[in-house]
Amino acid sequence: MKIAMIGTGYVGLVTGTCFADSGNEVACVDIDETKIARLREGKVPIYEPGLTELVIRNSESGRLTFTTDLKAAVSSSRIIYLAVGTPPAADGSADLTALKGVVDAMAPHLTADAIVVTKSTVPVGTNQFIYERLEELLGRQVDVASNPEFLKEGAAIDDFMKPDRVVVGVRRPEVGEVLAELYRPFLRTDHPFLTMSPQSAELTKYVANALLSTKISFINEMANLCEHMGGDINDVRRGIGHDSRIGFAFLFPGVGYGGSCFPKDVRALASMARDQGLNPRIMDAVDEVNQHQKTILVSKIDQHFKTDIAGKRFAIWGLAFKPQTDDIREAPALTLIDYLLENGALPQVHDPEASENIRAIYGSKLIYCESAMDALNGADALAINTEWKAYHNPNFEEMRSRMNGHIVFDGRNLYEPEKMVERGFSYHSIGRPAVY
Ligand code: NAD
Repeated sequence: MKIAMIGTGYVGLVTGTCFADSGNEVACVDIDETKIARLREGKVPIYEPGLTELVIRNSESGRLTFTTDLKAAVSSSRIIYLAVGTPPAADGSADLTALKGVVDAMAPHLTADAIVVTKSTVPVGTNQFIYERLEELLGRQVDVASNPEFLKEGAAIDDFMKPDRVVVGVRRPEVGEVLAELYRPFLRTDHPFLTMSPQSAELTKYVANALLSTKISFINEMANLCEHMGGDINDVRRGIGHDSRIGFAFLFPGVGYGGSCFPKDVRALASMARDQGLNPRIMDAVDEVNQHQKTILVSKIDQHFKTDIAGKRFAIWGLAFKPQTDDIREAPALTLIDYLLENGALPQVHDPEASENIRAIYGSKLIYCESAMDALNGADALAINTEWKAYHNPNFEEMRSRMNGHIVFDGRNLYEPEKMVERGFSYHSIGRPAVY
C-alpha cells in the first residue's frame, strides 16, 4: 500500500518505518527541512533503540522515503496518516493548529479513494471536524479514520511491531477492512484489531493515558504517606501487587511522570470534560499530585541542607523523563535543575542519551559529564531522576571516593536502604524512611 506519513517525529517516524518494513511504500513528510535532509542521509534525529537500523534498511530498499513535498506524497498515496504534534495550549486543551493546517494544505491533493487517518492524539470530535472540513473544501466525502497510537518511547519499535491491540475508529466497515489489512503483519499472535466509532477511538487513547497516569499519581501519594507513617512503599507495593485484581504494572513510586504524552493528555481530557460542563475531579487531582511529586527531591534536598545549597555541587544521574529515550519534555529533572540553579548550586549532570537536549535549554549553566562516575567528582550529593539500567549496579566504592559528601537522593528507589548505609551513604528514597 502507498502511505503518506505527515509529521516525522517520534510517532510518525516509528510508524512510517514499521509500515515500510512490512512491505508498504511510505513517504514520510515533515516541514522541518533539516530533519528531512538528515533522515535522507540515514541520520535519525531521536534516540530510539533499533530505529536507525530499521530506517537505513528500509530507505535502502526504496520503500521508505523522506520529503518536504506534501503535494507529491499525498497525491500518490492511498492512506494519509496525520502524525503531527498536538501540544498543550495555555488552557490545557490540545492545540490543533498544525493538524488543521495540514488538513487544509493536503485537501486538494487527495485521490478519489484516499483514506485520511489520524495517528496524532486528538480531542474527541477532531475526526468529525476533519471529515466535515474536507467535505466543505472538496465538495465530496472523504474517508477519515482514527487510529490512536499506544507505543512507548524507548520500546517503540517493539510496541508497534507487536501491539497489545490496534484500535481504529471508522464510519464505514470497508475502511476498517483496509486498515486491518495494513496491520495484519503486526497481529499474527492474535492480538485484537478493535473497530469502533471515531469518537470511541479518540477517547480510548486519552482514557488509557489517564488511567496509567492515575496509577502513577496514586502510588506516589501512597509512597509519601508511607514515609510519614513509617512504612515502606516497596513492601506495600508487593503486598498489593500480588492481588490479581491489582497487579504490579505502573505502580512504582518515583519523581512523577513526564514526557510528551501523560501530562498533556491528562490536562486535555480534563479540558474536554470541562467543555462539557463536567467536573474532572480525578484528572485534576492526578495532575496536581504529579506537579507536587516533581518537587519531591527538591523538598528532600531542602530539608537535608536546610536550604543552604549555594556553591554546593550536585551530581544528577538521569535527565530523560524515563530510560531508553532522549526525550526531556516535562521531565522531572528540569524541576530539580531549575531549583539548584536558582539557589546557586552547581549541577553536574549525566544521562546516556539526553544530555544534548538538556544542553539546548541550559547551555553553559551546567557541567555535562561523559560518565556517571565523572558527574560525582567533588559532589556534595547525588540525585537520581531516571532509572537507566547503568545506574542500577554502580561501583559504590568508587562513588564514595569521588564524592565530597556521601548523600544520595534516589528518586527511583534503585538501591536497598540498609545496604546503602553499610556502603557509607546517607540515603533518601521515595516512600521509605531515610537512612544515615
Ligand atoms: P513530535 O513533536 O516528535 O513530532 C511532530 C512532527 O510533526 C515534527 O517533526 C514536526 O516538525 C512535524 N510537523 C509539524 N507541523 C507539520 C506540518 N504542517 N507538516 C508536516 N510536519 C509537521 O511529536 P510526537 O511525539 O511524534 O507526537 C505526535 C502525535 O502523536 C501527538 O499527538 C502525540 O500526542 C501522539 N503520540 C505520541 C506518543 C509518544 O510517545 N511520543 C505516543 C502516542 C501518541
